[in-house]
Amino acid sequence: MTEKIDPEKMQKEFMEALKRLAAEERPSRMPETDKGQDESEEKRRQKRETVLRFDLKPKDVKKYLDRYVIRQEEAKRVLSIAVCDHYNHIRMCARDKNCKNYTKQNVVMLGPTGVGKTYLIRCLADLIGVPFVKADATKFSETGYVGGDVEDLVRDLVYKADGDIALAQYGMIYLDEIDKIAAGLNMQNRDVSGTGVQRGLLKIMEETEVSLRNPQDIQSQFQAILEFQQKGTLTKPVINTRHILFIVSGVFDQLPALIERRLKSSHVGFSAVPLRETDTADLLRKVQTEDFVKYGLEPEFIGRLPVRTVCDPLSEEDLYLILKGSEESILKQYTASFESYGIKIHYEDQSLWEMAKLASAEKTGARGLLTICERIFRGLKYELPSSSVKEFTLTAQMVTDPQKALEVLVEQDRQQQRVEIIDAIRRFEENFFTKSGIRIEFDQAGLGAVVSKVLDEGHFVNEFLERLLSNYVYGLGLIQKKSPHEKFILTDEVVKGPNTVLDQWIKETYEA
Ligand code: ADP
Repeated sequence: MTEKIDPEKMQKEFMEALKRLAAEERPSRMPETDKGQDESEEKRRQKRETVLRFDLKPKDVKKYLDRYVIRQEEAKRVLSIAVCDHYNHIRMCARDKNCKNYTKQNVVMLGPTGVGKTYLIRCLADLIGVPFVKADATKFSETGYVGGDVEDLVRDLVYKADGDIALAQYGMIYLDEIDKIAAGLNMQNRDVSGTGVQRGLLKIMEETEVSLRNPQDIQSQFQAILEFQQKGTLTKPVINTRHILFIVSGVFDQLPALIERRLKSSHVGFSAVPLRETDTADLLRKVQTEDFVKYGLEPEFIGRLPVRTVCDPLSEEDLYLILKGSEESILKQYTASFESYGIKIHYEDQSLWEMAKLASAEKTGARGLLTICERIFRGLKYELPSSSVKEFTLTAQMVTDPQKALEVLVEQDRQQQRVEIIDAIRRFEENFFTKSGIRIEFDQAGLGAVVSKVLDEGHFVNEFLERLLSNYVYGLGLIQKKSPHEKFILTDEVVKGPNTVLDQWIKETYEA
């Protein structure tokens, strides 16, 4: 038997399915229009106006960066200037629509990993109040989808700006690992698609309009179909890339040698000793366009990146200063998370030096600090919130041997709790006497047994003893009548079986 097909019903079901999918898979690429609507237009206007009122001077920007980013003096200066130029120009363009003749101050940053490149850009974007997107250049392939399409970066800016296209147009795009898409000298990693990615980037670095609907993204297409269904027309939202600031970076590990060779050919007697880290940074500072081109970057591409700067490797002292001085030091995060359990943590200065030393050995720049902190604090974060520790000081020994440190702290805490529990037991004995006129006293074994029970099973001392000795006022009273005792000594046997002991005592008293 064949079922009759109802085209209207089928279309309805199809649209329902699309709606569900669009709702479920939301929203990797397209701006969330609903969310965008939530934010009042007034707020959006204010945000845009803040950007358009930009009036900071390079020194103000640098001063702001100094609060967060340690060292990288040159990069901070260079970026401060570039950013001021860029946003001053935007402000001028907002007043005079015809303003032209401006070379965008896109930046290329050279330097090792974990030294603050991303952090610098994030701080700048925060200061100016513009959205910021970071990606690794390696995720893009020439033909678009396998890894991603460079235009996604622009669409992501809109997403970061909560759908505010106008604000997204002033945003910053930061692309790391740009050296990995060089196609020339970078032979070990030769990637033929690299040149294509560079061309794709070149296009968006210049002025172009990027459609907010990614033709490769099924979800975008679903939304387009839905919109067409609902409104009967299809808008084509686009974002202009004219004012987007691009910052690219990379380690460029073979570049210093290349620069050295160039210098050597022009300077007779240049020594061929292996490069040290500082030499590397110094050589990178002498980079010229021809070196980048030899490395495999397209001349047009590198030509769109007029601002160049080098970030230095971080020394042990720098790492120490990051811990101690940066306004967003990782330590503040740990301090806050202990505080949320009511635990105060102090840091011995020497412990910070020790952390810096260990982090430096990781050779991942300031990222090493995260690894080290995680190692030091993991156990403490697990154990201390359930202990009675309310305060502790991180010492250098604790940094070098966190496991031992944890054991010591936990043992100290147990000792402290023991003392407190024994005090509570003694107070209970006093109260027992006040209530019944009968003296009881736990001997050492008895005390130990109560302490263990209370600690291991998590009881309150008073409640535990009330329950343990619930028959004792009456039972001991019977014994007192027949044979008065100055006091009754309670052993660990009492803790194991209070009623068995009591029965035995009564029996012995009345049989005697
Ligand atoms: P990369 O140079 O690889 O982009 P990041 O900027 O991502 O390194 O650094 C990782 C983290 O380390 C940052 O989020 C920041 O917390 C810290 N950090 C790195 N360099 C510095 C620095 N110079 N000053 C202060 N913190 C830094």
